[in-house]
Amino acid sequence: MKNIPVIMIIFGGSGDLAHRKLYPALFNLYEQGLIHDNFAIIGTARRPWSHEYLREQVKDAVHEMNTEVNENNLTNFVNHFYYQAHDVTNIEHYVTLKNLAEELDGYYSAQGNRIFYMAMAPRFFGTIAEHINDQNLTGNGFNRIVVEKPFGHDLTSAKELNRQITASFAEDDIFRIDHYLGKEMIQNILPMRLTNPLINNIWNSETIKNIQITLAERLGVEARGGYYDTSGALRDMVQNHIFQIITLLAMPEPKALTAKCIHEAKGELLNSLIIPNENEIAAHFVRGQYLGSDMTFGYCQEPNVAADSNTETFVAGEVKFAAGPLVGTPIYFRTGKEMREKKTQIDIVLKQKSNIYGQAHSNIITIVVDPEMQVYITINGKKISASGIRRQNLIYQFSSSEQKEIPDGYERLLHDVFVNDSTNFTHWSELKNYWKFIDAIESAWAKENETGQKPEQYLPYRMGPKAAEQIFDLPTEHWIYE
Ligand code: NAD
Repeated sequence: MKNIPVIMIIFGGSGDLAHRKLYPALFNLYEQGLIHDNFAIIGTARRPWSHEYLREQVKDAVHEMNTEVNENNLTNFVNHFYYQAHDVTNIEHYVTLKNLAEELDGYYSAQGNRIFYMAMAPRFFGTIAEHINDQNLTGNGFNRIVVEKPFGHDLTSAKELNRQITASFAEDDIFRIDHYLGKEMIQNILPMRLTNPLINNIWNSETIKNIQITLAERLGVEARGGYYDTSGALRDMVQNHIFQIITLLAMPEPKALTAKCIHEAKGELLNSLIIPNENEIAAHFVRGQYLGSDMTFGYCQEPNVAADSNTETFVAGEVKFAAGPLVGTPIYFRTGKEMREKKTQIDIVLKQKSNIYGQAHSNIITIVVDPEMQVYITINGKKISASGIRRQNLIYQFSSSEQKEIPDGYERLLHDVFVNDSTNFTHWSELKNYWKFIDAIESAWAKENETGQKPEQYLPYRMGPKAAEQIFDLPTEHWIYE
């Protein structure tokens, strides 16, 4: 693998994301030789840490994720880490940071290349972007910026953040990261769709009855109540992860396997995204809030959550496109906290035609994204030694040795940032359409709030509110994953 010279600056270097995801992923890339001699990583946060203390933290982070570590490699790796105490709201601190980056650039021959990683609370993204610009933090080689989710709170704030970032970075250098796009089964959607005539030939609205996406979390809001109460499930999960999955399922075939062609195909699809009106929202969208139990708080009793909060911890809804292979096909989704189990699953339900055997089950292509990684196709066949039809599954899965080879999403996506491949990142042309859709739902719900309407309540560790079973276009439709 080619060694990429670069100075990487991580804003939020003492945070949870850096510790659990970024440091272990960077170590794996170091071991593969992608970053090797000519790199340094500057971790910044407000705490007064030393370089040595950060290096110990990075070592701990790698050990927590990996039991078989080559200690020599790890020591050499952490010696490339430097810590700079930095308050992102203080302009003077950017000058110190710039000087350190330039000094390290000379020492490591990093050729003026910079990667800036915003691993911080989203309210700081705009401030950091402005100061990178006004304090000239960019180098004279390549300059890339990685922005965590959420990118804005609505279309207006997303546009403003984009304006602040594009003051220093071209669209091609902005990597809006969504770790779902680094997941094995999500990356498998397009190859499976496009390389199998068995699947490709049926990928149209004449054959597919509906698609259902379930992204269920077992945990509640935990310590994130303060942030979550300003966000909710729609902004936290649908605006990014669920829409990314929907886009991969419904986009037309790209002209080629390049980032540019893939973003063009996604952009073409999203320009045909149908924004539902208020009646459609009332009929096909449900928002919910989890109740408490003997052992757990209800959402409104969680720390830092308003006691009369209308923020949804569950949402189910429907997406349709006016163009593309799935024109008009309903794509249903639901996501929530404190659901029965952690699961991300996509069910593609095929239309059933009448046949001489009478009633048979629909064929269903199921993609299990998390926690297992599997695809299975439910097909009909003859019952053994009896007349009649039974269902069986054809399964595509990984061996245990293959599973060990599957890299974490962050490792894949950081790799892509280093090699400048933006295929699996969100382009502005996609993001702005996602926000238009989310804003329409939020505004309908705001009107409901004014009339005193509240989110539907649901019991913890079930599949969400009962009302979510009635969002379908047809009475014959129902959730496949129950
Ligand atoms: P965190 O609260 O654990 O870390 C925030 C970091 O920002 C800390 O290092 C803190 O010291 C620093 N900080 C806070 N105020 C500062 C200031 N004024 N100046 C300088 N530094 C300051 O948050 P996190 O969980 O690491 O999340 C970071 C980002 O990553 C968020 O946008 C989040 O949505 C996203 N994200 C996190 C995860 C995860 O697993 N933690 C997963 C996906 C996305």
